[in-house]
Amino acid sequence: MNSWDVIIAGAGIIGVSTALELRERGARVLLLDRGQPGREASSAAAGMLSAFDPETPAGLQDFARECARVYPEFVSKLERASGISVDLRQHGAITVENDFSHEAPPPEYRELQADELQRLEPQLNTHGRKAFFVSEGCVDPDLLMQAATRTAELAGVELKTSVAMHELRARNGQTEVETSAGTFTSKAAINCCGAWSGTPVKPRKGHMLYVQPQQSGLLQHVFRAADSYIVPRTSGKILLGTTVEDAGFDKTVLPGTIDTLHAAAARYVPELADAQVISTWTGLRPGTPDDLPLMGETGTPGVFLASGHFRNGVLLAPLTARIMANLVMGKPAGWDISAFSPMRFATRKA
Ligand SMILES: Cc1cc2nc3c(=O)[nH]c(=O)nc-3n(C[C@H](O)[C@H](O)[C@H](O)COP(=O)(O)OP(=O)(O)OC[C@H]3O[C@@H](n4cnc5c(N)ncnc54)[C@H](O)[C@@H]3O)c2cc1C
Repeated sequence: MNSWDVIIAGAGIIGVSTALELRERGARVLLLDRGQPGREASSAAAGMLSAFDPETPAGLQDFARECARVYPEFVSKLERASGISVDLRQHGAITVENDFSHEAPPPEYRELQADELQRLEPQLNTHGRKAFFVSEGCVDPDLLMQAATRTAELAGVELKTSVAMHELRARNGQTEVETSAGTFTSKAAINCCGAWSGTPVKPRKGHMLYVQPQQSGLLQHVFRAADSYIVPRTSGKILLGTTVEDAGFDKTVLPGTIDTLHAAAARYVPELADAQVISTWTGLRPGTPDDLPLMGETGTPGVFLASGHFRNGVLLAPLTARIMANLVMGKPAGWDISAFSPMRFATRKA
């Protein structure tokens, strides 16, 4: 049997960032994935860094904002180490008024007058609805995953792919990780299996597509409305999304849903109607009953959970990694994570 300080199951953005953070602090880290790193939700995401999204639960908003604040630093660390650019774009996002149907827009949203909107995004048509600017960035999550995985490996994180974790348990003051490739031991283990982390995490499916418009530089800003996301990449392709569906672990791409998303985006940017669809996919977000993440030690000593990041896991990765490394190393979390405790869903015994 082999032994490490920490074993992490699941090499999405949460597992890889946490592995890197622990390795940087000197821990010997084994990172397992039952497939290849980053092939699930983390590369399926839009990569919006939606720090001020009014849909983010109140208990997560400060955390999300702090993550957005440290994101450029996180990205530059990964880009420097890996040599891979992750296409961090900080042009800001434009959104329309029906996103805040019952409330005033958050103070970070600045209303755009028609002439300013026309200057910022001449191709965008909000059909007379008020438009707002918010200072939020985005990354290409596929490139982010490549950069993060490469950085973690270069830092000395040991990565085993095509190895599934079956069980994490405590034994004789250590942690035993039973996998498809045998049993490994460590001082601590972290479940970072995303939508597959187990109860109370539930998969929330999202459809996405990339289109290639004929006109280069069609859009500069992220655009967000209740029925459409439009996220331009520097390469010229444009991501269109998305849905939030309860479909279990089914990842089937439904052509009708893709067509609906394409048509919704084309109502805001008519040139997108003729843009060639270059890829379509779905991803499973790790959802929780209260839409807040799960971070901390479970009821099993030495076994930790970092999951449930739902719609914002790409954004929330840098601080999640720091907090998890602090906790596993026996230090204070460094953030009030009481609302994120994995124990909040534990059933109380009478
Ligand atoms: C359509 C869509 C759009 C999104 N848009 C955004 C966005 O714009 N901004 C944002 O911040 N977030 C976004 N998200 C959310 C974000 O993608 C997730 O919150 C985040 O990727 C979760 O990361 P993770 O590492 O927990 O999970 P994942 O990336 O799913 O990684 C989990 C890993 O665990 C592995 N695994 C599973 N079971 C086992 C096992 N038993 N043993 C070993 N390995 C296992 C899987 O193979 C996988 O690699 C979006 C998600 C989707 C689906």
